[in-house]
Amino acid sequence: MPSNQKTLAVLGAGISGLSAAYRLHKLCPDATLHVWDQQERTGGVLTTLYQNGYQIEQSADNFITTVPHLVSLCRELGIAEELVSTTPRFRRTYVVRKKHLYLLPDGFLMMAPSKMYPLAITPVLSPLGKLRAALEYFLPPSRSDDDETMKSFVTRRLGREVFERLVEPLVSGVYAADMNKLSLMATLPRFREMERQHGSLIRAMRRQMRVNKQTKSQSQESGARYSMFVTLRGGLSRVTDTLAANLPDHSVQLNKRAEKLELFTDESGGVKWRITDQNGFAESYDAVISALPSYEAARLLLPTYQRLGELLSGIEHSGTAIVTLAFDASQVKKRLCGMGFVVPKIENSPILAGSFSSMKYEHRAPAGKQLIRIFAGGARSPEMADMPDKQLLSLIKQELRPLLNIDGEPELEVVAHWQRTMPQYHLGHLERIREVNAITAKISNLALAGNFLDGVGIPVCSLSGQNAAEKIAERIRSCF
Ligand SMILES: Cc1cc2nc3c(=O)[nH]c(=O)nc-3n(C[C@H](O)[C@H](O)[C@H](O)COP(=O)(O)OP(=O)(O)OC[C@H]3O[C@@H](n4cnc5c(N)ncnc54)[C@H](O)[C@@H]3O)c2cc1C
Repeated sequence: MPSNQKTLAVLGAGISGLSAAYRLHKLCPDATLHVWDQQERTGGVLTTLYQNGYQIEQSADNFITTVPHLVSLCRELGIAEELVSTTPRFRRTYVVRKKHLYLLPDGFLMMAPSKMYPLAITPVLSPLGKLRAALEYFLPPSRSDDDETMKSFVTRRLGREVFERLVEPLVSGVYAADMNKLSLMATLPRFREMERQHGSLIRAMRRQMRVNKQTKSQSQESGARYSMFVTLRGGLSRVTDTLAANLPDHSVQLNKRAEKLELFTDESGGVKWRITDQNGFAESYDAVISALPSYEAARLLLPTYQRLGELLSGIEHSGTAIVTLAFDASQVKKRLCGMGFVVPKIENSPILAGSFSSMKYEHRAPAGKQLIRIFAGGARSPEMADMPDKQLLSLIKQELRPLLNIDGEPELEVVAHWQRTMPQYHLGHLERIREVNAITAKISNLALAGNFLDGVGIPVCSLSGQNAAEKIAERIRSCF
């Protein structure tokens, strides 16, 4: 290797790490690049499985396009023609109330209603709960600039019932978090902005609807903004597989766990990183991007940068289990017209949320079949992320059977456990990340990427990888 050739390492081959490596290779094509991952495959949590004609997403199953980065990246990778939107006629969500499914009021998106009539007639809220929600229109905005928990914000604006029966299950289904701790400003700051700008969430949502000139089907959406979500026809693993395929030969090093990370000075006086794997084999690098979960980055960095390690190790994570079940459509007797359902904590169910996977994206199941994905665990019931498959399946099927009026057993059952995969953006997270960024900005040969920084969604993770690559490429050009 020529002595001036730079050696760069990316730790972690999930969407964050592979996006970092892809960009780094574009920006520094002459550098030697290694991507380390402890698993035997790339993709991190993103895993698309094919079984008996079904396409099963084991973790993330689609992504939002309001952060345009990932769609642009798909274009750059030549896979944009595979992007598919959610099935328009099913863009609604159910919520469970006393063991029955009800459609969420049309236009109720994550935290606020855009239409009052559907809210007024929903059987999910009591007359008092509806009255309290309608009062939101007249409530003055908070004068405080302080962050607050999701629970505090929603109960302050829309009342306890809307929080418990609508918002808590919707937000839990995405963040698998404890609403008593989840930071509004670190997760859904646009709702605080709506309050600030328009004085009321209802007023802001209605104005947005008028300005955006929504189609009839868009104005009927409920739960998430489904028209803004896409996936890839070949599954989300297509993105990580294609990123990996665009890296130089032999750069991705699998079954290689970073056990130790140390700074040292080489013979020419250059400061480098030495990374040691699980077999005691060490390699040295001019710069490192960590795209590991924050607790792993913390473990590796603590001996060298104590404060950084402490900040990273303070980020809690929750785990989830995903149970995928396939049925013949004739076995599911309940007539469904939505993308899935969410379950409020007050229902005391083992299920956090469910997704009608093959209604959301029709290519995921053979004709006449129904693919259903169930989320369990999260901060609400952490024990479920580790529950043995047999026990978990029995519990979930028992709960699902009366809810969807299911006849008989599924023809396919797949379980995925995701321990410590969802960083919890608790109150104080933004300050913590600000300090993390301030420390890493001063370290020229280190950058961080991952889902603990700016958001858990895959477009934001990918962007964090790209930003980390740009920082390192710039430092290589100017400092080394
Ligand atoms: C069940 C579930 C459902 C989700 N649904 C959605 C969704 O629908 N839409 C969406 O946008 N987002 C969703 N998310 C979030 C999103 O998928 C993740 O935030 C994102 O994929 C994380 O990517 P990452 O590369 O940062 O981390 P990871 O994918 O966790 O990758 C980190 C990598 O680091 C490796 N590693 C760890 N320690 C070491 C070590 N010491 N040495 C070497 N390698 C190591 C791991 O093996 C792993 O491959 C979901 C997440 C989960 C868990």
